[in-house]
Amino acid sequence: MSQKHIIEIECLQCHRKGQFTVWDIMNTGENPCLRKKIFDGSAFTYRCPDCGMLQRVPYSTLYIDQRHGMALFFGHNRPDDYDYQPLDLSHFTLIGAEDYTIRLVIGLNHLREKIMILETGLDDVAVELMKYMIAHYSSPEISMRGWDIYFDHVNTDDKDAPKCGSITFCLVDREGETYSGKSPMELYNEHCLAVKLDPRMRAEGCICIDDGWISRQLKGPHKDSREVGYRKPMKKRGYYKVGSGVRHNIQLPDGSLVLKEWPHDIFEIDGHDFFIFGNTVPKTSPTRYIRGIAHISGDVIYPPIFEHVRPLRSGKGWYTELDTAPYVLTLNGSIYDPEKRHLPQEN
Ligand SMILES: [Zn+2]
Repeated sequence: MSQKHIIEIECLQCHRKGQFTVWDIMNTGENPCLRKKIFDGSAFTYRCPDCGMLQRVPYSTLYIDQRHGMALFFGHNRPDDYDYQPLDLSHFTLIGAEDYTIRLVIGLNHLREKIMILETGLDDVAVELMKYMIAHYSSPEISMRGWDIYFDHVNTDDKDAPKCGSITFCLVDREGETYSGKSPMELYNEHCLAVKLDPRMRAEGCICIDDGWISRQLKGPHKDSREVGYRKPMKKRGYYKVGSGVRHNIQLPDGSLVLKEWPHDIFEIDGHDFFIFGNTVPKTSPTRYIRGIAHISGDVIYPPIFEHVRPLRSGKGWYTELDTAPYVLTLNGSIYDPEKRHLPQEN
């Protein structure tokens, strides 16, 4: 059920007072016009009936779309102390919303994007991981220039990607100019598999899934406060493998450490600045080793859950096994099943 109340607003220009509707709960089933009001911005804009001056009214709301199964707790601005903790919903009961995607969303552009992702039926964690990997790895100029990247739409009928279609993203530069770019849908499916296999990508509770959350999950929340005990040069110039007891890390030329948590093993840095690392599983006989892949940026692209990680001869990823099933880890942070079980099945 939608809920609203009326507030009085004074025009900043002519000081005439007027009324404005604040929606505490927006239920699109009951008030379909609310979706449009979010996309054209009118839900949060007061127009003075006298002089026509437009004024932003940044209130928080709960956006519910029963048809697409989403409940989005929305706020315009990020609280200063916001640390991706889940929103406390103990005082809330969303009846019939057990299967809903429940999220905290910050910023109006992100709300519009989240609505479009979920209306399209996509997994928003996979889309955010995909966007992060595009902006920081496959097209790093996007993050270096401080551009934003948003999901725009899926093209099922794309002659450049006849098999599964493609996803179009919208890029926004610092002046607000927009550009578009697209990726094949296969890559999205591989990111869905990466999300499914990676325990860090489970969205528990009402959390904000955005670029910052992905970065936090990849880098890890905790920092080991170990002291560097010894160091030896790596093949990559200026880089050192450092140790502290049985744990290891990589020291960058500026003296900083790459990984927040120190693993047991660190291997050489490859031509794309990735490296394999791993841990020994305690009390296993014969000793089990688990491996992951990280980048010198500090992002742990693949968590240490894989066995026998080895580079592909093409240099375009790694071959690995998980519970004896073969997988290919790609340079895009996605996971490819050589048996293609992760792709939509053809009839
Ligand atoms: Zn006015």
